[in-house]
Amino acid sequence: MAVPIDDYLRTQFMPHIWCPGCGHGIILGAVLRAIGRLDLPKDEVCIVSGIGCASRAPGYLDFNTVHTTHGRALAFATGIKIARPDLHVIVLTGDGDAAAIGGNHLIHAARRNVGLTTVMFNNSIYGMTNGQYSPMTPRGRYASTAPYGNVERNFDMCELVRAAGGNYVARATTAHARQLSNYVENAIQTPGFAFVEAVTQCPTYFGRRNKMGTPVDMIEWFRKNSINAAAAAKLDPADLDGKIIIGEFYRGDAPEYTEVYDEVIERAKEAAAR
Ligand code: SF4
Ligand code: MG
Repeated sequence: MAVPIDDYLRTQFMPHIWCPGCGHGIILGAVLRAIGRLDLPKDEVCIVSGIGCASRAPGYLDFNTVHTTHGRALAFATGIKIARPDLHVIVLTGDGDAAAIGGNHLIHAARRNVGLTTVMFNNSIYGMTNGQYSPMTPRGRYASTAPYGNVERNFDMCELVRAAGGNYVARATTAHARQLSNYVENAIQTPGFAFVEAVTQCPTYFGRRNKMGTPVDMIEWFRKNSINAAAAAKLDPADLDGKIIIGEFYRGDAPEYTEVYDEVIERAKEAAAR
């Protein structure tokens, strides 16, 4: 069923700043279609971002929106969720924003199991600042700060969030837009901290430096090099080198932070009334 998303856009701020062929619009569409299928009232949704290409998204969205400082989206979002647990708080962040400067906020938001949905736009690079390598740039790939190839291993953020205590973890790519949208829908519905990694193309910096061709070629590369989690589990880890493992990795039911916090407030009130 087609879900109309025009009502969620601030068209007065179009055209957007993203480059032609950038994958961020595909992710944004997936997020908006998930919100549309859930029929969430606009006033009950709050979108929070940090800094970077991905973090420009809330400016184009007609919900409650907050564009914050670099790496701090989850800190702001935690405060918003604690103040207004009734809101659906959705964090849109990039790989630099979430995995580097904001990494500690991510770990602790997951550990606390705050009822937030985080969608990390992973384009494997710092797009907005001209293509420096990020913690998500695979080893051997090129970036403006790695002209002879990146020496570092890239992060597996899904494993990190799972280990830190999040209740929902999934990954898809822009070649799997419908799957990605379903994961975002499931993430919004799962109480506690939910994390969806959306692997996306930055044709301007990552694609060009790594000679990956057109945006369509990059999406096709994602499609060919993705493997679902069930199939990946049957393979030798060496055979997964360079592959993108996609799927829902975890759904937990640990208590959500603000619910636990409310219980503490009630106990404090009872103690004060004695
Ligand atoms: Fe997208 Fe890359 Fe352009 Fe940023 S620099 S808008 S990530 S294509
Ligand atoms: Mg990035």
